[in-house]
Amino acid sequence: MTIPATLVGEQSRIVLITGASRGIGATIAMGLLQDGHRVVATARKRSGLNELYELAQQSKDLKSRLMLLELDVCDQSSIDTAIAQVNQRWGHIEVLVNNAGVASSAPLHKTSDELWAQMLDVNLTGSFRVTRAVLNPMKKSAYGRVIFISSIAGLAGCLYTSAYCASKHGVIGMMRALALEVAPTAVTSNAICPGFVETDMAQAAMDNIQASTQRAQDEARKVLEAFSPQQRLFQPDEILHTVRFLIGDGARGINGQALTVDGGQVMH
Ligand code: NAP
Repeated sequence: MTIPATLVGEQSRIVLITGASRGIGATIAMGLLQDGHRVVATARKRSGLNELYELAQQSKDLKSRLMLLELDVCDQSSIDTAIAQVNQRWGHIEVLVNNAGVASSAPLHKTSDELWAQMLDVNLTGSFRVTRAVLNPMKKSAYGRVIFISSIAGLAGCLYTSAYCASKHGVIGMMRALALEVAPTAVTSNAICPGFVETDMAQAAMDNIQASTQRAQDEARKVLEAFSPQQRLFQPDEILHTVRFLIGDGARGINGQALTVDGGQVMH
């Protein structure tokens, strides 16, 4: 693994990522740390961040640029505590990646109040809470990025996922409204909308297909792959790449946009 000490041509930023214990969030945290940013990787449990901890043990430089903090997006006091710790050590957060999310599927008539509330609370209200907590100092400074990891389910209907779809559509609406609010400042607000990405979340969807249709694992995988015109699942580092692009100074003019990483499944 090669670890560049500093960024070339770009500034090192203070980045907070929610849901960094695995999947897309962990990949974004590792990638941005290796790029030279100061990374605040957060998870509900500190133990979920052990892999990042191990990575940072490789050098003094990495250790000095990584904070590992507990943060539950459904718990305002845990959000406030984590952000206060960052402010005290490094100053205000310059890039927020709202990544934490949960997914569950059910036909609408079988969607319980609990499932509905959980999707909305984590995916939509959770992103709102964390964004609200970091926004003011960001708006007063000369640079800021709010990035929401939504989904193609935030742009189009997906079968048997009314609660997830509603939450991810909500994220897109919030992102767009925020984009107008921050337009007079140096902050931008954008979303990344992946198709199926190879993580535990996509694995759970495959397990579901297997269980409900008695198909083999590779057939269940083909079902998910077939959603994209590229006939494949996407990789977490493709989402990292899009985050890198949005963080860059050159992306200053991109605001209020939902960038799909889905091989052309949704064109909007
Ligand atoms: P994942 O592997 O299941 O990881 C989800 C992450 O969210 C975990 O780190 C989890 O932490 C965290 N999380 C869940 N509830 C939380 C809470 N209340 N507070 C803080 N963190 C919480 O999923 P993923 O595939 O990486 O998904 C990341 C994001 O991408 C999600 O927003 C998801 O909706 C979106 N997305 C994923 C796909 C896909 O196919 N994978 C496609 C489109 C969009 P714990 O370890 O504490 O559970």
